[in-house]
Amino acid sequence: MNKIRKGDTVKVLSGDDKGKTGAVQYVYPKKERVIVAGINMMKKAQRRAPGQVKTQTGIIEREGPMHWSKVALVCPNCGKQTRVGFEFTADGVKYRVCNKCGNAIDK
Ligand SMILES: [Zn+2]
Repeated sequence: MNKIRKGDTVKVLSGDDKGKTGAVQYVYPKKERVIVAGINMMKKAQRRAPGQVKTQTGIIEREGPMHWSKVALVCPNCGKQTRVGFEFTADGVKYRVCNKCGNAIDK
């Protein structure tokens, strides 16, 4: 189970966007990378694909994937940057808990 999931709010720990927060848009578990809204913007040259007239061309800015060790989860309960712990329900279902306030992160 991943510590960071789509929809989480995370804080950037290093790089140009250090200290900023954003919502996780996408997680690449195998690459251990995440895409965070508004973070790690990369300029990309978009060429017109043959036969596609409506494609936006020129320089566009998009979020680039970053390693998930460079972000920390912001707890939705206490609002603090936190480490994630795991616990089990009585039914054996694993869920994430905030190490700061002890509340469940997953609903
Ligand atoms: Zn918390």
